[in-house]
Amino acid sequence: MKRINSIFFALAVLLLITSSVMAQKSKESLTEANIRAVMNEAYEKFKNAPGGANASYIPFLADVDPKLYGIAVCTADGKLYEVGDTKYEFGIESISKVFVLALAMQDHGSKAIEDSIGVNATGMPFNSVLAVELEPARAVNPLVNAGAMATNSFVKAPNSAAKWQKIDDIFAKFAGRRLQVIDKLYQSESATNQHNKAIAWLLYSYGRFYDNVDESVDLYTKGCSYGSSAKDLAVMAGTLANAGRNPITKEEVINPDFCPKILANMITEGLYDSTGDWVYATGLPGKSGVGGGIIAVVPGKLAIAVFAPPLDKAGNSVKGQLAVKYMVEKLGLNLLDGRK
Ligand code: GLN
Repeated sequence: MKRINSIFFALAVLLLITSSVMAQKSKESLTEANIRAVMNEAYEKFKNAPGGANASYIPFLADVDPKLYGIAVCTADGKLYEVGDTKYEFGIESISKVFVLALAMQDHGSKAIEDSIGVNATGMPFNSVLAVELEPARAVNPLVNAGAMATNSFVKAPNSAAKWQKIDDIFAKFAGRRLQVIDKLYQSESATNQHNKAIAWLLYSYGRFYDNVDESVDLYTKGCSYGSSAKDLAVMAGTLANAGRNPITKEEVINPDFCPKILANMITEGLYDSTGDWVYATGLPGKSGVGGGIIAVVPGKLAIAVFAPPLDKAGNSVKGQLAVKYMVEKLGLNLLDGRK
């Protein structure tokens, strides 16, 4: 009996050692081969995952093929990995908010964003009117519709055309190529954005809007209508992972001091009212858009971008979340995991 007990004990110790070695191993496994293998696994595993539906409140988005699916990874040292529909250009939507925020921060500094827009989580849907009413900051933060429209109004330029030029230029620097607005999406969104206009006017009434309301809402809507591919988004997010320098073109796009601030915004509000669930699972700053895109940033290491149109109730890509969560776990990318 004693002998059996000690055999069991030895086995248990062995099991503990191997599992901790395996856990250690998964943290050290950021090799090219592993990134590619895990990305391909995530692609296959969730290719036919059910659930979710295309956004339908913007008519153009309802008609995008829900089967499209692509994953792209861009490392901070400039390596790109792609699987699936990574070249398809879809509506960037709310992911644009991150890069307009970067521009406004570049214009005014990070303190001004905190003071004039706000940086706290709402815990509410991205287009919540209630959040504006309840929160003392009103605009709330740059990654919900209210704050994003206020952030567009905050961009420093003499007029709307000059603002758009600055937006277009910084997006081009983030992506490493000039993005094009999808005209049909822009029309579709402009014809149906009355709710956003109402929010913008409400902010104006509270003194939390910084330029012409209609023109600023138009800038926001146009920015949401950019066509971007999963590959573009991986490079744009990769620039944030690489402390503000585009990993492919090597150009410094934003002051490195601002990257942690932008990522902090993403970690508090990137997936709106389900950001808590997201951070609980990934420990990463992320950002989604109702076009089906999602980005996740691992500072100093890499960025992941996924495109798959069906969304959950909060407006986040279902497959996108599944794929990122899988890759984070397999590659040991959770920022909150202190194991070396
Ligand atoms: N353009 C969309 C809107 O204003 C963006 C929303 C989103 O992607 N969450 O509703």
